[in-house]
Amino acid sequence: MLTQNLGYPRIGGQRQLKKACESYWAGKISLKDLHQIARSIREENWQTQLNAGIDLIPCNDFSYYDQVLDMSLLLGNIPERYAPVLSQVADNTEIDLYFAMARGYQKDGLDITAMEMTKWLDTNYHYIVPEFKAKQKFRIFSEKLFGEYNAAKQSIGDKAKPVLLGPISYLLVGKEKEEGFDRIELIKELVPVYVEIINRLKQQGATWIQLDEPALALDLSKKEKEAFEFAYRSIANRVSGVKILVATYFEALLDNTQLAVNLPVTALHIDLVRAPEQLDEVLALIPLNLQLSLGVVDGRNVWKNNYELSLAHINKAVEKLGSDRVLIAPSCSLLHSPIDLDLETNIDPEIKNWMAFARQKLNEVAELKQIVAGNNHLLAINKAAIQSRRTSQKVHKQAVKDRVAAITEADASRKSAFPVRQQLHRERFNFPAFPTTTIGSFPQTDDIRRLRASFKKGEITLQQYEKAIEDATVEVIRWQEDAGLDVLVHGEFERNDMVEYFGEQLDGFLFTKNGWVQSYGSRCVKPPVIFGDVSRPADMTVRWTSFAAQQTNKPMKGMLTGPVTILQWSFVRDDQPRDITTCQIALAIRDEVLALEKAGVGIIQIDEAAIREGLPLRKAKHPHYLDWAVKAFRVTAGGVEDKTQIHTHMCYSEFNNIIEHIAAMDADVITIETSRSQMELLHAFAHFEYPNEIGPGVYDIHSPRVPTTGEMVSLLTKAADLLPAQNLWVNPDCGLKTRKWPETKAALINMVAAAKEARKII
Ligand code: GLN
Ligand code: ZN
Repeated sequence: MLTQNLGYPRIGGQRQLKKACESYWAGKISLKDLHQIARSIREENWQTQLNAGIDLIPCNDFSYYDQVLDMSLLLGNIPERYAPVLSQVADNTEIDLYFAMARGYQKDGLDITAMEMTKWLDTNYHYIVPEFKAKQKFRIFSEKLFGEYNAAKQSIGDKAKPVLLGPISYLLVGKEKEEGFDRIELIKELVPVYVEIINRLKQQGATWIQLDEPALALDLSKKEKEAFEFAYRSIANRVSGVKILVATYFEALLDNTQLAVNLPVTALHIDLVRAPEQLDEVLALIPLNLQLSLGVVDGRNVWKNNYELSLAHINKAVEKLGSDRVLIAPSCSLLHSPIDLDLETNIDPEIKNWMAFARQKLNEVAELKQIVAGNNHLLAINKAAIQSRRTSQKVHKQAVKDRVAAITEADASRKSAFPVRQQLHRERFNFPAFPTTTIGSFPQTDDIRRLRASFKKGEITLQQYEKAIEDATVEVIRWQEDAGLDVLVHGEFERNDMVEYFGEQLDGFLFTKNGWVQSYGSRCVKPPVIFGDVSRPADMTVRWTSFAAQQTNKPMKGMLTGPVTILQWSFVRDDQPRDITTCQIALAIRDEVLALEKAGVGIIQIDEAAIREGLPLRKAKHPHYLDWAVKAFRVTAGGVEDKTQIHTHMCYSEFNNIIEHIAAMDADVITIETSRSQMELLHAFAHFEYPNEIGPGVYDIHSPRVPTTGEMVSLLTKAADLLPAQNLWVNPDCGLKTRKWPETKAALINMVAAAKEARKII
């Protein structure tokens, strides 16, 4: 029985790669330095995996920016607009071209846009989207893969296993950049290059090659399934003497099981953490010669593996296949895990004993193999840890569980229907047509960030800190009054992050010091960890919202983060279903909503930035998810009086297949991001005859550009053509946290002018 790993984090335990790349971009270190740092990270990763006892160790899982972009470069899929970069950096190497594709290129009179970036399946990792043309040609362009394999071979010998994104998934995660063709048809052009690549690796000495095909766990069309068969048959016909492992993850194979187990390859990897139920079917259908890699250690979370559970899977597979045909592995690449739990010195030891980061997960894979061979001691230690977590009072709060179990339909419903509420709001607030507001945050200047940091470090007192935040808050309120905004916000100066701020105040959350995970390029995030039943020991936002409300006669909007967003952007418990955890968070936020209402706050916004990104990969699972996600939101808002106006905000506007669920959230006002699509995405709302009020973003906050009043009036005119004008609000696309003050002021002044103009003409 072999152990293997599918991929390892590449940012380095101290985020060396992040720092090196950013220094290289800033011209502070040489290319040689950058390569040197990268080499030592790779070398260290290989040795770590070797020492842990992993038999097949990935290489080429390292990337300077993104592994999908690496594939585009390997395959010579370089959009034409980068041709001038190629000639300008000729004496350098391909890496400047590579970074230009990732980040855009503005130098020496050139101004070339970056390639698009989007989320990798259902993770928070972002990849660079391959671009395809109808006449797309491929050829081996980059030598990175071959260089890295060579280095790995020298370092760890036969154990080195090159990793590539497989041809079908590479096509499917990309985008057509021309009309009139389907990118899957390019498989005929692509396969010969894969054959050439595999043959070169084989000549270099590779014995195993891993091709990631997460697409096998997605809904596939007939044409896409045929492309799978075609691609792997062609590869098998033209390659021999090297073992191909096809890796799937994040979902079950379901209707693709037949297809997957019959691909002419040596081994198939399946994710038994996300989809343990698929094992039986795979074992029932597996042909005589296929080896099976069991993804039993969770590559996407921070919890210690439950060996007993994993062993049940392993034993079942061994019984059917014999141990020679079974491999043990993490469920997916460990790219999505923080690197090393040993670096955490502040986590409560009892809880730390329930956790595992990437380095610990390698040990788990190796230990499982030892336990299969009879090491009962390791099993006993693991059982004790699992048992301690199962029964710990730090995790389990009966009162929280009881409260979730007692949630009723009435808890999840406003007292009266929207038309009744709308009438009350009109009487209470007496807003003009096209009321103006913002999404919550105002620019977080360096001063504000420094202030929070020095307070955290204990360099300034609570009084000093609060005074400075109060000053910033008062200033932003005065400014909004002067600008003539109708609904004000307090600016969120006391928050560094919309999830962390709440997690820090809720029971059941913990924070790591070094639990960084790559988000995109050199950007890393440090998600909170939800380890126990969630409850709210005290008010979280009342202090700042009330303070702000007292500074003005205008309505002040309270600002909260919704339960699904808090869940999505955290590491979550794996010992209870996600919907239960979400309901617990929902009850905590509901209490905060009620506390704000009691403090006299009449308008409360509950941000659900991540509700859409939580959608499961398979369409069949969407309804269940949407049901509980919408219910959780309704629970947060369901306790208030009719006269209280509940807002929600979402950072996107692609609502096509979920509009009825968005409507079911029954927020009095929803603000969304629409400016970049020129309101086109409002069609979904218009078509559905969305009944509640809506603020389609009238300007893009991702750019410093100041929009003119005229262009915002014309967007509002478009919106009013699609939806009842009396239901429309006027606001930017999203929060203003990342913007600078001058452009923010100029843009909002134009926005208020646009609303006034709209009141006259529409
Ligand atoms: N209220 C938050 C802000 O303005 C919302 C941010 C978001 O939607 N990502 O910053
Ligand atoms: Zn937003």
